[in-house]
Amino acid sequence: MTVQNIVLLGATGSIGASTLSVVREHPDRFRICALAANSRVEEFCHLAREFPRAKLCLYDETAARTAREALGGRHVLSGMDGLLEMVGDLEATTLVNGLVGSIGCRPTMEAIRRGMKVCLANKETLVMAGEIINRLLDEHPKASLVPIDSEHSALHQCLAGRPNAEVESLVLTASGGPFRDLPREKFAHITVEEALKHPTWNMGPKITIDSSTLFNKGLEVIEAHHLFRVDYDRIKVLVHPGSHVHSLVQFQDGALMAQLGTPDMRLPILYSLVAPERVSLSGDRLDLAKLGQLLFQEPDRERFPALDLAYEAGRAGGAAPAVLNAANERAVALFLDRKLSYMAIAKVVATCLEEARFSRHPEFDELLAADSWARGRVTELVKEMRA
Ligand code: MG
Repeated sequence: MTVQNIVLLGATGSIGASTLSVVREHPDRFRICALAANSRVEEFCHLAREFPRAKLCLYDETAARTAREALGGRHVLSGMDGLLEMVGDLEATTLVNGLVGSIGCRPTMEAIRRGMKVCLANKETLVMAGEIINRLLDEHPKASLVPIDSEHSALHQCLAGRPNAEVESLVLTASGGPFRDLPREKFAHITVEEALKHPTWNMGPKITIDSSTLFNKGLEVIEAHHLFRVDYDRIKVLVHPGSHVHSLVQFQDGALMAQLGTPDMRLPILYSLVAPERVSLSGDRLDLAKLGQLLFQEPDRERFPALDLAYEAGRAGGAAPAVLNAANERAVALFLDRKLSYMAIAKVVATCLEEARFSRHPEFDELLAADSWARGRVTELVKEMRA
């Protein structure tokens, strides 16, 4: 077996930690050739010492300078150029992209151009630039893209390479978040602390808020559309509070295939690295007898308007998903900053979608323009609301 040389972006985040755990468990298969993070210097330096031969990059220039000093003058790249240089490493075979937000796009595109395998946790890449990414994948047949997102990994596992003409629908499961059963009238008083309590998965703050609003599921619908090239009418969302079934594929013959497991991101990460192979992984196994039963319900589209907003943006195509994603990202940051109420997150995103004017088939630069327009517009709208 050939060793995979991995460029790990987002090394100090939760995807990074799980990836490193998988790498440590299979040193014969995986080697870390480059590590990048945003600005968490201390954790980053710790990892840099564990992997003394890895190329290093901190996106934040000030953090990079601090790291250079702390690591006794070791070379630490910075900024987008630094990330792209690491992806361009001649030894690199595999990109694990665990970056948060739209900065994950360009490294993904660069890795595809270089014919690499991309293990993608950064869903913004596909939400924002799915059409461009698919075009690039068609142009670079040596490259491949495998999702790390647990639902999409589940779909990939259930599909097992079957052509999408055999698929009746893709069914994405959603935990429903902490407010699944909260009555509508109480939504106006949801606090940051309450929204940060995810019932099953332990993740970063942005995605935890997105899980509670169902924006995360909405983004995942768009992600699934591009990954599996299935139209929106054939992508469904099902609330499944236990998060034991990670997603399902309904085939044309009526067979429903599901992938189940414990909520442990190491499995989708390992699977993305070795698919379609199956490789051993330590850890707990799902005990179905102990579980006893599985619960499912339809999502409530009134209390969780984010879901329909995402379908709408996805169907509109062009720059609309980029606007949806960026507006939401900015709105969540303002909510976490206590400058925007919980219910207003979806409202400002809806306003941005209504106002946005971009061409039908934007190139990447126009997507970036749409992204920054949406962020600025949300900031303005929130200022107006607070005035
Ligand atoms: Mg997910």
